[in-house]
Amino acid sequence: VRHFGQVARVPGDPILGLLEHFRADPNPAKLDLGVGVYKDAAGRTPIPRAVKLAEQRLSDSEQSKSYVGGHGDPLFAEGLLRLVLGHQSAVLGAGRAGCTQAPGGTGALRLAGEFIARCLPGRAIWLSQPTWPIHETLFAAAGLEVRHYPYVGVDNRFDIEGMLAQLGRVPSGDVVLLHACCHNPTGFDLSPADWRRVLEVVRARELLPLFDFAYQGFGDGLEQDAWAVRLFSEALPEVLVTSSCSKNFGLYRERTGALIAIAADAEGLQDVRSQLAAHARNLWSTPPSHGAAVVGLILGDDTLRGCWQNELDGMRRRVAGLRMGLVEALRTYGLAQRFAHIAEQRGMFSYTGLSAAQVLRLRAEDGVYLLETGRANVAGLDAERLDQLAAAIARVVT
Ligand code: PMP
Repeated sequence: VRHFGQVARVPGDPILGLLEHFRADPNPAKLDLGVGVYKDAAGRTPIPRAVKLAEQRLSDSEQSKSYVGGHGDPLFAEGLLRLVLGHQSAVLGAGRAGCTQAPGGTGALRLAGEFIARCLPGRAIWLSQPTWPIHETLFAAAGLEVRHYPYVGVDNRFDIEGMLAQLGRVPSGDVVLLHACCHNPTGFDLSPADWRRVLEVVRARELLPLFDFAYQGFGDGLEQDAWAVRLFSEALPEVLVTSSCSKNFGLYRERTGALIAIAADAEGLQDVRSQLAAHARNLWSTPPSHGAAVVGLILGDDTLRGCWQNELDGMRRRVAGLRMGLVEALRTYGLAQRFAHIAEQRGMFSYTGLSAAQVLRLRAEDGVYLLETGRANVAGLDAERLDQLAAAIARVVT
């Protein structure tokens, strides 16, 4: 008997497929602007020094590899709650916020999806159009109805009016997923005034906000990037936040993240947390320890924390500098105005506005690899070769 005879083959992840094409390309001047990991000037995805130091300490002090609890490492939880909600957070002071460790931001999102599907039945989840593709498949896999609000207009600019208009028509009680900062894939973030307008609609329509916070520290800074999450957390009785330590701590493969739940009161929080632990048990039982232990050590030690913040600040400044540098390089070709949005966007990604045809020409003629949607990972740029890239872009757009 062949049990697997009827199993259909599904296409692989298009971003990883792009990486394979890149690796096979013999062009010595090739440039990978595809995969969403941070890269330094040498094209490496570094391990922050604070992480290395914390790992050394951990390897000396760790006494056991027995299971951690269902909500994970308490030191990690304490540090992360303060990092996300702020040291002065009234919500934290009132015991209304709890942290459940998960395998990466993806695990946290899946746990949120599971919680919504099981405990809040009948609620759809609303995603920005476009969004990180895994949002689409992950929430559907959890059994949620997935719907969309507009985010980018046909002019490749942030469409706040379209977003607000659609949110104003969302059925009461539904969940709205918001990118806390550094929107993936577009790089377009809301201004404080935009966030206040979204908050009013969320309040008026009685929606449940779920923040995906995967790039804290990559936009305007650790505290600044948490502004919207904190605004909503202080203004509303109930909020969900998924936090990822993959990018800001460089811990990608260690699968480090958390779901932060904020409830109306401390008592209600314990009800929610009992459910989160029960659903996590069915998904991964208990979370992986290493990455969270590292983050807990860094956040709890002033020296390690300072070292980490400096390095993160360097990553943020590198990406911001590359954005400005590329727009400056495009000025030579009279294209600075047309691509000014690249400097205004935040985080690692840019919706460049290049069409699929232009992207394919860049790939074939110049060995420049970005997604066919026109999304580029800005961290993949080479500061020494911005002029070369600008020339290639000028060739395909004019
Ligand atoms: N959300 C967004 C928007 C992301 O871009 C990513 C990573 N690409 C994640 C969540 C999940 O990150 P991880 O599971 O690697 O922590």
